[in-house]
Amino acid sequence: MAKRFECPECGPIETALFDGYPLGGRQLEGVMFRGKIVNDKIELEYVDNPNTGYLKGLNTEYWLKEMKKFISKGTDMAQCSNNNCVEDIDIIDD
Ligand SMILES: [Zn+2]
Repeated sequence: MAKRFECPECGPIETALFDGYPLGGRQLEGVMFRGKIVNDKIELEYVDNPNTGYLKGLNTEYWLKEMKKFISKGTDMAQCSNNNCVEDIDIIDD
């Protein structure tokens, strides 16, 4: 049993990007999270500095928790975090 990210272009990757939109709709439009697998769980952080841009004025702690819950329920919507790669990746859990 091991969770991992796999990009069809790049192969196994360390981190993946998750879009906040499917969870928060317009409130999280443009908000991206970076996920990394630690002890078989996906750890999340904001890609952008929490005090700037789309995150300014957002309850960032709340949404980070909600996003962790959302992803732990199983989502297949994640993107490769490598520069210039926009592929959708697979989250493999076997
Ligand atoms: Zn890739």
